[in-house]
Amino acid sequence: MIRYVSTRGPGAPSRFLDVMMAGMAPDGGLYLPESWPELDRSLFSHLSGLRYAGIAMHIIKPFVGNDVPDDVLQRLLDETYTPAFFNHTAMTPLVQAGPNAWIMELFHGPTYSFKDYALQFLGRLFDYVLGQRGQRITIVGATSGDTGSAAIEACRHCKNIDIFILHPQGRTSEVQRRQMTTVSAPNVFNIALAGTFDDCQGIVKSLFADEVFRVEYSLSAVNSINWVRIMAQIVYYAVAAVALGGGERPVSFTVPTGNFGNIYAGWVARRMGVPIKNLVVASNRNDILTRFFESGDMRPESVVPSLSPSMDIQVSSNFERYLCDLIGRDYAALVRLMESFRTQKAFHLSGEIMQKARRDFRAYRCSDLNTLEIMKQCYQATGIMIDPHTAVGFHAAQQEIDKDPATPMVMMACAHPAKFPDAVRQATGLDPVMPAALAGLQGKAEKFMALPRDLDKVRQYIRQSARRQS
Ligand SMILES: *Cc1c(COP(=O)(O)O)cnc(C)c1O
Repeated sequence: MIRYVSTRGPGAPSRFLDVMMAGMAPDGGLYLPESWPELDRSLFSHLSGLRYAGIAMHIIKPFVGNDVPDDVLQRLLDETYTPAFFNHTAMTPLVQAGPNAWIMELFHGPTYSFKDYALQFLGRLFDYVLGQRGQRITIVGATSGDTGSAAIEACRHCKNIDIFILHPQGRTSEVQRRQMTTVSAPNVFNIALAGTFDDCQGIVKSLFADEVFRVEYSLSAVNSINWVRIMAQIVYYAVAAVALGGGERPVSFTVPTGNFGNIYAGWVARRMGVPIKNLVVASNRNDILTRFFESGDMRPESVVPSLSPSMDIQVSSNFERYLCDLIGRDYAALVRLMESFRTQKAFHLSGEIMQKARRDFRAYRCSDLNTLEIMKQCYQATGIMIDPHTAVGFHAAQQEIDKDPATPMVMMACAHPAKFPDAVRQATGLDPVMPAALAGLQGKAEKFMALPRDLDKVRQYIRQSARRQS
């Protein structure tokens, strides 16, 4: 049976379902499997030809163990990865964008960003487990854009979950706001807070810190530190490797990176035996990761807004998971590094450890100017419109392809260009084609509660609205 440990100390190992319910480990660390499962090499010939949910079963099963019966797990996967929720039968179609380069479109879910692929599954699995245990939970989260709508879409059908999402009033794009506020479901609550994203996040943190309230309403989170989100993202790396290399010839990936969740799933895939050559971290001007791979210095600077806002991050929380294996699972050393990061606002690695890190990942940065240039070039050369996040990846991929033209390169397209029409217009002079579901948001009624930047008012609103555990 597979067991999970915290990055900050092995302690008493936990089971898969407890890890899913808890999100973060009690010591403040992130959960990891005690040891990595290895896929049998003969599995890959068997995977080609399977549908997405079939491949997903083989990849996910070793992490779930017997915590969910096989037939239930396969049913949940089949119910998630269907044309009812994803608007392409391939789920993650590969579109050729150059002689040996492909774009993997991860934007065919209900909210048009890659976060749907993990959250749609997490919502269903959560709801199933809560139903089995006769429990309810209240999910509370803050969003600056994509995560809120993906979480709402993942929970709107869940019988045992109420979800409250705080967004900074007037500070998200109109499309992003409407994606959240036009969802009409009795368990979905939007709060438009008079403040910034940091204010929203501050209030969410305070709610979680209120022990009595947290227990009374069974507060929970679905942010990217939840292991299940990483696990579900491993699947499409295997899907691409099977499609382009038959599971034998290695494939490389470039991933626009913020919280290090998506590309970390690629690292896990390779660790399990999926034939992956290079993993390329693409950052915008908020380039803490690029600087780390160059210098060994992990040192945040202030966040600068860019054309690719979902990557405007200085502290990549999932990096802690990778770091744990990079330093050989020396849990005490990891605690020291995180402590240095907290108090000195930096840590430094060198020598063999950095050599290993540079073998594991390549890293590049991309300015806003280059982002627009690449969006235009890509459109002129291929007729494909890409969003600004995808463009940051494209820019990095071009440099890698020059060094290693023989290995197929897969560039992850993490958002639909229609979510960022202003940048597309600026780059190409054209309006992106709006998918019907996004265009239809215009006419729909919006539902949200406007609240001041006041912890008590927010807590009061949740008390009034949530269907408490009976
Ligand atoms: C969330 C997001 C990212 C960053 O992904 P991480 O897993 O946090 O690295 C990149 N691009 C888009 C469009 C996103 O929504």
